[in-house]
Amino acid sequence: MSKHDADAIVVGGGLAGIAAAIAVATSGLRTIHLAPAGPPDRRTSALMMPSVDYLRSAGLIGEPAELGHALTQIRIIDATNRLIRAPETLFDAQEAGLPAFGWNFANTHLMESFHEVATTLPNLETRPIGATELAENTLTLGDGSRLSAPLIVGADGKKSLVRAAAGISARERQFDQAALVCDLDLGRSIGGASIEFHYPQGPFTLVPAGGNRANLVWIDDRAALETAKAGGEATLLAAFTDKSQRLFGKIALAGPAFVFPLSTLSVDQAGTNSVVLVGEAAHAFPPIGAQGLNLGLRDVADLAAALAAVDRTADDWAGRVSADYSARRAGDLARTGGMVDTLFRSLLAEMLPAQALRAGGLWALKLAPALRRQAFAVGMGSRA
Ligand SMILES: Cc1cc2nc3c(=O)[nH]c(=O)nc-3n(C[C@H](O)[C@H](O)[C@H](O)COP(=O)(O)OP(=O)(O)OC[C@H]3O[C@@H](n4cnc5c(N)ncnc54)[C@H](O)[C@@H]3O)c2cc1C
Repeated sequence: MSKHDADAIVVGGGLAGIAAAIAVATSGLRTIHLAPAGPPDRRTSALMMPSVDYLRSAGLIGEPAELGHALTQIRIIDATNRLIRAPETLFDAQEAGLPAFGWNFANTHLMESFHEVATTLPNLETRPIGATELAENTLTLGDGSRLSAPLIVGADGKKSLVRAAAGISARERQFDQAALVCDLDLGRSIGGASIEFHYPQGPFTLVPAGGNRANLVWIDDRAALETAKAGGEATLLAAFTDKSQRLFGKIALAGPAFVFPLSTLSVDQAGTNSVVLVGEAAHAFPPIGAQGLNLGLRDVADLAAALAAVDRTADDWAGRVSADYSARRAGDLARTGGMVDTLFRSLLAEMLPAQALRAGGLWALKLAPALRRQAFAVGMGSRA
């Protein structure tokens, strides 16, 4: 009989954690998912087509239209007063030969859909409790009890206990900027277009949420966002109307505003010694270019591939899975991290060369179809 309580334990009940728990259980392993209850995740996720295809093929969602809203265009408006300004640029999915770049989902809707799938898997047990310690594949839980498994999956977010216990070093950088998110009802619909106003302190982005509704992601100095939020509805609406250049008629709040601090986090390796990291335990970015959860789902897809490839009769199968997973993730994590970092710096840069580069880049994208197609592929997470 096995000396372990399960074949694998997944720590963390965010979207990456539950997707990972489902993937691990679907591979046939007896899986325990530690998912302490938290407040509902009020964010929304723009997921690019490859991520949506993964969710569908893994059975995590049905038809995307039942759950979310198609993103068919991206419109970028340079709202800076910089010396060198970028042109207004419109990217259309049809140009890339696609019906849509991706879909925008409320995280609560994705969570509900994932939970429904989890309850259908007999070898997946979900426990609403957190871990307080990890040593040699044994987790101590919040109630003092212990659980062990050959494979441990850390999906426990930016401050990952699993990552620290596995000795995987992380580089984190906090920004002065934060992101304010809020659901808005606009005076007119933005259709399927995500509209980004690029201000010197960060982008102000409206993402389609069906009808006249839009999800706002406003990146700015954290103090300015906290002040706007503290000012209440009238202050927020005045700021939204101003930032959206009065293009959308009367704006109304459709829910409360939330402010998220921003940082980047990267790791040297995404797996070692029978421990693997998925989602923000392994990588975090500011929410630009919609990469965070997209990358988290690619982690899960690679974890499923590593599990499918390993010989489970081998004594050290879990160690092999962590090594294989780490190798599979290395290129994508480095590439995506570098891309988002460059994009974020270019958006905020006050330096003339950076402004020129960014403006020049957008002109090139505006004018050169081949470059645009390449940009689409990179932004959508192509591994080519
Ligand atoms: C404003 C904003 C907008 C965004 N928009 C997009 C977007 O459009 N597209 C996109 O792809 N990405 C987007 N992202 C990124 C995306 O939201 C995240 O990448 C994703 O939600 C991270 O999921 P996760 O499960 O890795 O982490 P989290 O959601 O942080 O979940 C971690 C979980 O681990 C649990 N946990 C922590 N410690 C323990 C422990 N010791 N034991 C047990 N459990 C523990 C926590 O309770 C939590 O539930 C956005 C992010 C922000 C901030």
